[in-house]
Order: sequence, then structure tokens, then C-alpha cells
Amino acid sequence: MKAINLSKNLIVKPGTKVNLSKYNPDDTFGFEDKQGAMDVIQRNTFRLGELQYLLYAENKHSLLIVLQAMDAGGKDGTVRHVMSGINPMGCTVTPFKVPSAEELDHDYLWRIHKAVPPKGEIGIFNRSHYEDVLVVRVRKLVPKPVWSPRYDQINAFENILAQNNVKIVKFFLHISKEEQKKRLQARLDDPVKHWKVAPGDYVDRKYWDEYMTAFEDVLGRCSTPWAPWYVIPANKKWFRNLAVSQILVEALEELNMKFPKPAYDISKIKLK
Ligand code: ADP
Repeated sequence: MKAINLSKNLIVKPGTKVNLSKYNPDDTFGFEDKQGAMDVIQRNTFRLGELQYLLYAENKHSLLIVLQAMDAGGKDGTVRHVMSGINPMGCTVTPFKVPSAEELDHDYLWRIHKAVPPKGEIGIFNRSHYEDVLVVRVRKLVPKPVWSPRYDQINAFENILAQNNVKIVKFFLHISKEEQKKRLQARLDDPVKHWKVAPGDYVDRKYWDEYMTAFEDVLGRCSTPWAPWYVIPANKKWFRNLAVSQILVEALEELNMKFPKPAYDISKIKLK
């Protein structure tokens, strides 16, 4: 198996000006096929389970995973595959939809902050506060003077979380416009997938280029040492799963977690 350091290759270095047309969504970084990747994915999935157990036991850090993508980009599939080794007890997935009337009456980070995982747990954001500089910008839901200061606000917000032991890892699942067409068409063709059809997705496709520009700004301006963005080539689902699981294993290992010392003298506890 290739010894390529995926996280080093896929991370957006803070301060980089990102041009997504230079990122190949079909890239597999030397991994040849699904068959070869399966071993690594399985190993990572198992290791994620072990690391989650330690995260829960140590109860010092939490892990926040942010998933963003174009429609049909594979957010749901990533959650399903990558987290298959995780104990649901210590993991929450929060989807962020069009804000409710109550949410709109607060600042845009209000609903986000409430969903940040507590110590010992993993939280996955399926969409996130980044919608407030993506759809909100592209669809002109608020004027530019409102959305443009949000990049700095988001960096400051994530910095507060990071200083309070929230490990943040952000993934942009990068598919091509062609691949999106294939996936959206498959939803129309297969009755089992009809429930996934959202007419809005077919309209949003018209704004592809505007979305790419908005994503480039997100990736370029909000990849920070404390909350990095990774661009995951996601046309091939097996590579997407491999890359995401690998980066998550590395992120958790970086925490150098330890089982806490028992609060009791275990040797003194005798069972009758
Ligand atoms: P998903 O596509 O994530 O599976 P939905 O089909 O319910 O789920 O889509 C959620 C929708 O909510 C998306 O169109 C997304 O752009 C929108 N959305 C999320 N956050 C916001 C926001 N802050 N403002 C406006 N729209 C938002």
C-alpha cells in the first residue's frame, strides 16, 4: 500500500488562495482501486472505534467534524461508511437545514454553538455555519456587508472552540459537475432513490460556478491551524471514505489521549 501522507496532501494550508479547478475530484493519490482501499478503510474504521472509546473515557476533548459539499456530493454516504465503527452513544449527527423563524431571530452561530459536541463525544455537522457564506452568499439571502465579515467571525468562533478542547476537522467533498449530473440523474431514474429528489438541487446546479467561487473563499480564508479544511477528491466514493477515515484517525491520534487514572484504589475493591 502506498505510503502517501494523505492529510498533508489534502489539507488546505492556511493562507492559500484556492483555485478548485486545479484540484482533481478523480484523484486517488496512487491508490489503484476499491479492492486495495478496502483493507485500509477497514483498519481505519476499527481504529476510529478504539479512539472513540478513549475519547469517551478520557472525557477531555471532543471532535467536531464539518462536512460540506455540493448537492449529491456524498455527505450522507460519508457519515454512513466512515462512522460505521463508532459507538452511536458517543456520536451525534446534526444536519443544518434552512434556518427556522426562531433561528433567524438569533445570530447565525446560535444554532451552531448549541450543537457543538460535549467533551468525550464526536459531533458531525452535515452542512454547518459555512452555509452562511455559501448558499446565503450565492442566493443573495443577505447583502454583502452582512456575509463578508463572517469569514473572520467564523475563524474567531472556531478558535474559541479549539481553545476549549474541541478538535475541529473540516471536509469539503469535491465532486465534478459531471459527477453531480450522474448522481442527480440516478436519483430520477431509480424509484428507490426518488425520496432523495429535491427540486432545489436541480436549480442550484445553475449556480455551480458561483458556488465554486464561494467555496474557494471558504477554503482559502477559513483553513486555520486550529480548524483546517481538507479538500477530498470525492468522485470515487471509496477514495473519499479512505481519505476521510485516514484524516480522522490522525486527528484523534494527535490528541495523545490517555485513559484516566481510576478515582478509586481498585485493589481495595473486593467482590463478595
Ligand atoms: P441535504 O441536501 O443536506 O441532504 P436538504 O435537502 O434538506 O438536506 O437541504 C438543506 C438545505 O438547507 C440546503 O439547500 C441548504 O443550502 C439549506 N441551508 C442550510 N443552512 C442554511 C442557511 N443558513 N441559510 C439558508 N439555507 C440554508
